[in-house]
Amino acid sequence: MEKIKLQENLYVYRQTNEPGIIANTYVLIGNPNILIDAGFMVEEKIGKVLLTHCHFDHHQYAKKYQEKGAKILASKKATEELKKASQIVSPDYFRKKFNAKIESITVDEILEENQAINNGNFKLKIIYVPGHTPGSIAFYDEEKKMFFSGDTWYGGERIGSYKFPSGDLEQLKISVEKLKNLKPKFLFPGH
Ligand SMILES: [Zn+2]
Repeated sequence: MEKIKLQENLYVYRQTNEPGIIANTYVLIGNPNILIDAGFMVEEKIGKVLLTHCHFDHHQYAKKYQEKGAKILASKKATEELKKASQIVSPDYFRKKFNAKIESITVDEILEENQAINNGNFKLKIIYVPGHTPGSIAFYDEEKKMFFSGDTWYGGERIGSYKFPSGDLEQLKISVEKLKNLKPKFLFPGH
């Protein structure tokens, strides 16, 4: 794992070996410090954990953060999916990859479309982007033109996978177009 400073008040923790398996974990410094996805335990004290979707590689440490006092935030559909995380989201695939016990997660706050999350340094708008999973969301800072796209879009023509059990290619295409139209200057994807 390596920690990289991307911009002022913005860090990513990411995998150094076997890239692509564990989700990029972004730290947005502010009041409070915000985490986007929970693929790693970070050194900063985290107040809010925003989950882009219900896949295990993105939420594997969410419960640990919650135990340390952080609130978990996700879309309504992801909240339902995370509640039964131990049974769905292709657990066999993740179990094999991570040799992990997948636990269900209780989300503290549901994120509505167009809602804004503000920590003083970042103002993130919630954008619903179903397709990779039904409950996938992305976060957009309009002022900074920064996009946190989860597994929906990796830039250009590189779209997320729709091959997991709840994936939907038609929905995903619509969602990616929606993101492209916002013309972000910086794209921070989940992998
Ligand atoms: Zn995923």
